[in-house]
Amino acid sequence: MSNPICAACGTWYPEAPASPAACPICEDDRQYVPRGGQQWLTSSELARTYANRLEDDDGVPGIGMVPAFAINQRCCLVETASGTVLWETTSLVTDQAVQAILARGPVKAIAISHPHFYAAMVRWAEALDCPIMLPAADRAWVQCPSSRIRFWEGDRCELAPGLTLIRCGGHFAGSSVLHWQDQCCPEGALFAGDTVQVALDRKRVSAMHSYPNAIPLGPEQISAIASAIVGLRFDRLYGYTWGRNVIANGDRIVAESLAAYLKAIAPG
Ligand SMILES: [Zn+2]
Ligand SMILES: [Zn+2]
Repeated sequence: MSNPICAACGTWYPEAPASPAACPICEDDRQYVPRGGQQWLTSSELARTYANRLEDDDGVPGIGMVPAFAINQRCCLVETASGTVLWETTSLVTDQAVQAILARGPVKAIAISHPHFYAAMVRWAEALDCPIMLPAADRAWVQCPSSRIRFWEGDRCELAPGLTLIRCGGHFAGSSVLHWQDQCCPEGALFAGDTVQVALDRKRVSAMHSYPNAIPLGPEQISAIASAIVGLRFDRLYGYTWGRNVIANGDRIVAESLAAYLKAIAPG
């Protein structure tokens, strides 16, 4: 038996003789079922067609897939003074990628911003022998349950000194960012997933209920994201995919972008 993988969002489903009837992640209004209908791959088909891509992305080691697959997220290896965390996961896990990651040192945890990037998280956690940290608010979206998953409650979860998960909500109830500031990254960095998305000009960010379906968030949700992030110092802001990064003044750019959004949807 093999794991069915949704070709549109990249989510892995439990081993089964046949593909699921539908992908709840794609049926949700934040994603979409492709025009040609839902398509599925097996894990072995995926391994035959795709490879993991490992390269620097504006100063952090990135891990993605070639050719681009599903949402095409790029994971980050966050190498702090007190240990390494893998931020987000891809749908493909190759031995070569696992060996390249472990050659840099052990990985203490996987942390994921929201359900669109759960992908092959259980397979990654088994290969790297580490837990997966997910916000309890998004528990219902897990498609492959595993004893590797640890749900964190509340609004903050410190993974290591200077490395903290912050729940902002908005895109999903549990949508989180990862803030890093220690002697390895004194200027600070924020890993944003889809909680805020870096615009193509890399000079501003936005936040949406659905990016592909262009469904905005309301004033309360935008204010909540801004309040959760205010006061954090970070120069760099790493978005969800390759090159979608702000490389200076990230904290000011997020504050100004969210203030402009709020003014547009709730003037006065
Ligand atoms: Zn899907
Ligand atoms: Zn998303």
